Amino acid sequence: MEDCIFCKIAAGQAPAEVLYQDDDVIAFADISPMAPVHALIVPKKHLASVEEIGADDSEVVSCLIMTAKRLARELGISNSGYRLVINSGPDATQAVPHLHMHLLGGRPLEPKLG
Ligand code: 5GP
Ligand code: ZN
Repeated sequence: MEDCIFCKIAAGQAPAEVLYQDDDVIAFADISPMAPVHALIVPKKHLASVEEIGADDSEVVSCLIMTAKRLARELGISNSGYRLVINSGPDATQAVPHLHMHLLGGRPLEPKLG
């Protein structure tokens, strides 16, 4: 996807503070953090949203969660806790149309989600 900012970051063609990457996923700091820890965990394959996840993508999806868990440990928030969020589609205010999971922590988060 030529015009996709997260594809560009995954390809090393746009800058980001990369926290982790392997063949399937890349994680980097959110450019506009909403908490002391705010990382984005992104599949390298372009999937626009949760709606585009197919049966073949189950390994990638589990990789997102395992990467979040790994990062939480590395960033020192495993015990204090954290929130994993995926916004999918307009009502969820998804702004970047490339599937991504937010990892938020480092302070007590608001109890309400919606
Ligand atoms: P969404 O609302 O789509 O779930 O979240 C998109 C997130 O991506 C936002 O938190 C926003 O700050 C972040 N973001 C948007 N563009 C960039 C970028 O170019 N670099 C980085 N690191 N984060 C971005
Ligand atoms: Zn993309």
